[in-house]
Amino acid sequence: MTTNLLDFDLDGLTAFCERLGEKRFRATQLFRWIHQRGARDFDQMSDLAKSLREKLKVHARIEGLPVVSQHESADGTVKWLFDVGDGNAVESVFIPEDDRGTLCVSSQAGCAVGCRFCSTGHQGFSRNLTTGEILAQLWYAEHMLRERFGTGERVISNVVMMGMGEPLQNYTALVPALRAMLDDHGYGLSRRRVTVSTSGVVPMMDRLAQDCPVALAVSLHAPNDPLRDNLVPLNRKYPIEELLQACLRYLEHAPRDFITFEYCMLDGVNDQAEHARQLIELVRSHGQGKAWCKFNLIPFNPFPASGLLRSPSRQVTEFAKILTDAGIVTTVRKTRGDDIDAACGQLAGDVKDRTRAAERMARQRVIALKPVA
Ligand code: SF4
Repeated sequence: MTTNLLDFDLDGLTAFCERLGEKRFRATQLFRWIHQRGARDFDQMSDLAKSLREKLKVHARIEGLPVVSQHESADGTVKWLFDVGDGNAVESVFIPEDDRGTLCVSSQAGCAVGCRFCSTGHQGFSRNLTTGEILAQLWYAEHMLRERFGTGERVISNVVMMGMGEPLQNYTALVPALRAMLDDHGYGLSRRRVTVSTSGVVPMMDRLAQDCPVALAVSLHAPNDPLRDNLVPLNRKYPIEELLQACLRYLEHAPRDFITFEYCMLDGVNDQAEHARQLIELVRSHGQGKAWCKFNLIPFNPFPASGLLRSPSRQVTEFAKILTDAGIVTTVRKTRGDDIDAACGQLAGDVKDRTRAAERMARQRVIALKPVA
């Protein structure tokens, strides 16, 4: 079996080339061909010696993921479904904006965290993606879009690890993928433009801060432990106080001076004025008076199995105003790709569940905490 070179960051590729008896700089050339030029065929690599190309043909391959489908939204959003074998498929979404192009990347086939408002969570978990499968999403999207737009320029300026899966539960594969995204010989993205989104895997947040500190988004979704235990089951292991302490530790290494809290607005569940006031108290009681976080309010994209509804937009606006009036920077995420089920929380792919998540979640009910005020 040959080695898929998409599985390596530059250090990994260098070690591979050295095992083939090649000099280190050959790895850099090869890495550029693969990631900067989208090469799939060793014969294209005209500045590599013919003897090396022949060696590579015997020992290596550059293999992306088969594309099952591609859907395009009226707003320019593009969603791909990639086959990752054994009946599993994962989704990636490209979101074009005036000043940036963002790719939302999946890290797992399914997800074991089981957040109640997330369609991936309802599908259960099959397996972690490899580094090559994570990178293949970016590799394919970048070079396909470049070709389409007829440009040699970079199309994807930002990557968010917010597709299917909890990236920090697939840490070993994630970090080399992030390094390839950041590498000047790879995609050359700045740390500020690569975001890992986590539901709060505290020990891995600390490791990421040391190993590869990129921008961090935390799926908070609730201002107190009883409600968060219900919406984001991982909270039972790493409750809010532990999570916020981990955020503050992360900030000492982060490329930005704030953490983004994602907050999915669920009608009658977590969207009341009292919840906003509890959030303000949480923010103020941490961070020693500094502005250390931002909130991103996400309109929920309902799906039948969730039993949840989207908060009315008036409620979202009022909630945002309470936070903003307290001096907390708050944005409301624009819904993109709604017409192709590419909006946040709608990514579902195909997952051969090994966790019986759907049954388990059907037995539970979301508790709607009554506002105290
Ligand atoms: S929101 Fe993220 S962590 Fe939660 S179930 Fe969905 S993919 Fe997993």
